[in-house]
Amino acid sequence: MSERSIVGAWRRYRSIPIVYRIGAAFVLGSVLGLAIGEPATRLQPLGDLFIRLLSMIVIPIVVFTLVMGMRRLSPGRLGVVGGQVVGLYLLTSALAVFFGLAVANLFDPGTGLTLTGGEGETESPPALQEVLLGVVPDNPIGAMAEGEVLPTIFFAVVFGLALAMLAESTTNEDVRNGVRTIFDVFEAGAEAMFKIVWGVMEYGVVGVFALMAATFGEAGPDAISTFAVLILTLLLAVVLQIVVVHLVGIVSLAVGQSPISFLAGSRDALVTALSIRSSSGTLPVTMADAEDNLRVDESVYGFSLPLGATINMDGTALYQGVAAVFAANLAGVQLGFGEQLTVVLIAVLASIGTAGVPGAGLIMLTLVLTQLGLPLEVVAFVAGVDPILDRLRTMTNVSGDLAVTTLVAKWNGAVDFTRGSWVGDVEPTPEAAAQD
Ligand code: ASP
Repeated sequence: MSERSIVGAWRRYRSIPIVYRIGAAFVLGSVLGLAIGEPATRLQPLGDLFIRLLSMIVIPIVVFTLVMGMRRLSPGRLGVVGGQVVGLYLLTSALAVFFGLAVANLFDPGTGLTLTGGEGETESPPALQEVLLGVVPDNPIGAMAEGEVLPTIFFAVVFGLALAMLAESTTNEDVRNGVRTIFDVFEAGAEAMFKIVWGVMEYGVVGVFALMAATFGEAGPDAISTFAVLILTLLLAVVLQIVVVHLVGIVSLAVGQSPISFLAGSRDALVTALSIRSSSGTLPVTMADAEDNLRVDESVYGFSLPLGATINMDGTALYQGVAAVFAANLAGVQLGFGEQLTVVLIAVLASIGTAGVPGAGLIMLTLVLTQLGLPLEVVAFVAGVDPILDRLRTMTNVSGDLAVTTLVAKWNGAVDFTRGSWVGDVEPTPEAAAQD
């Protein structure tokens, strides 16, 4: 092959939107894993590299965009935006558990199965008081170094607000110029991070192929057929939550925009979440989609998306409903109305304290099962297929974060519906990629 034809093939490859290439890698990787089984797990390190590359930019992107966003947000408006974001996050999570329970009651997953798999591995979720105190870092650099998102948000908001207030109140010209420079530096830093995100996504084609091959190489067709009803129940509940709550309820009715445009603008984040099973790891891509495609202002998404990645988990909350019914069926007991209400309450509260990392939903499940007095062995029983269930949960978590962000941005005049995916312009455009 001549050099020119290699360059031509590379150009043609790059002219295909990244999300389609990753989608193809997702399918091919899954097929390979199912076809060759265990040996496919050796590809895992290539997938881990993708996750590491994304995790590398989480903290910088959160700090840069948040500080920069505070430039345009007064403390009063931050309170309003914060209240709206948290209120909607709680509401959508509660609706999610409701859908999970409703669909599970209809399909009754778990009937006909018997428990195997020994003692459940239990890890206790953090207490609420611990979570609240943990929001304030005793050392901001330490929090950033440890990758703790909530304390990092707290410090970046406080720092950004202090800078903005200083810019308004100071009479010292040097200080005013200094503040402007800091904001400019953070703005350039954020832009650089978004460049890195799209670069990392290019590698994502390999990473996602490897992750899917390893997952299906490990889980195999047997696990999938044993848990088919559970997987399908979760799938249906997830589709309902995304279509009814996120697309129709929020985007179409409340925002008044096309759900298709929303999906087109969010697709990189949704596919990444499906592939890497972590809303925190997906955060850089979620923010890049909000910035480049959904055209939300960073004064809203800089705050709502990192917060959402940690406290808003519609898919995870919904799974608690499905899994509780599943566990009750395995144990041969019927969940009454009061117990189902308990599931809603605990799932919503626990989703606030659980981090957006792979498998966090399983930890939450131990809490829900303990409260209901159901056998904890269920956790070990479903752990084998959790890598598959977790993908559906994480994608729903990220979709919920972006839908709420778009609505709050609309309420605060912080989104431009005349640009980006709202008018069919999705980043990175094939032309732009071809020019690189
Ligand atoms: N993996 C999910 C997330 O990162 C949490 C879960 O396990 O449900 O959002």
